Amino acid sequence: MSALSELYEEIALCRQCEIAKYRTKVVPGEGAEDAKILFIGEAPGRYEDQQGRPFVGPAGLYLDELLTSIDLKREQVYIANVIKCRPTGNRDPLPSEIHNCRKWLERQIELIHPRMIVTLGRYSMAMFFSGRSIGKIHGTAQKRDNVIYYAMYHPAAALHQQSLRQAIETDMLKIPSLLTQAESISEAKQQPQQLSMFEV
Ligand code: URA
Repeated sequence: MSALSELYEEIALCRQCEIAKYRTKVVPGEGAEDAKILFIGEAPGRYEDQQGRPFVGPAGLYLDELLTSIDLKREQVYIANVIKCRPTGNRDPLPSEIHNCRKWLERQIELIHPRMIVTLGRYSMAMFFSGRSIGKIHGTAQKRDNVIYYAMYHPAAALHQQSLRQAIETDMLKIPSLLTQAESISEAKQQPQQLSMFEV
């Protein structure tokens, strides 16, 4: 059994938050164990809770379309959420739930070791870009310890607001070149070089 599958078993046993009582299935995440890109959403919704898989409802179908726009299939990336249980009544995750679940996401990041972490929406953005606003930083990246952090709007928000749709689609199209730029820089042993789309 892979280390990630072992982790899923641990996550399934977690009952730290009240919402664990009401879940149908826990939603740890899924995708390639050696994925270069890790997408992090917010929390499972109704469909995810039923299936135990991330992003399988309308927002997930849209995420699949966005991935197709850069020639990727969901099996080639890894998709996870900030919290692994569905918040009751689809409410926003509580700070205590985000705190309790953080360890699982940290272990996923350690095991998958992605080159790029793409935050989808403000909850996952807040974990990596503290104190920033999504309206300002979406479509920009930062490189820290050889990992690129890239903020995007949440696909569900973009589905419901036409104005964000254009932004999320444009932001998605920047991912391949960010990854290539960052890879060529690390191969060149970090020679001083600016990444044009990166925030300073
Ligand atoms: N929204 C999320 O943030 N995550 C999912 O898995 C589904 C919808």
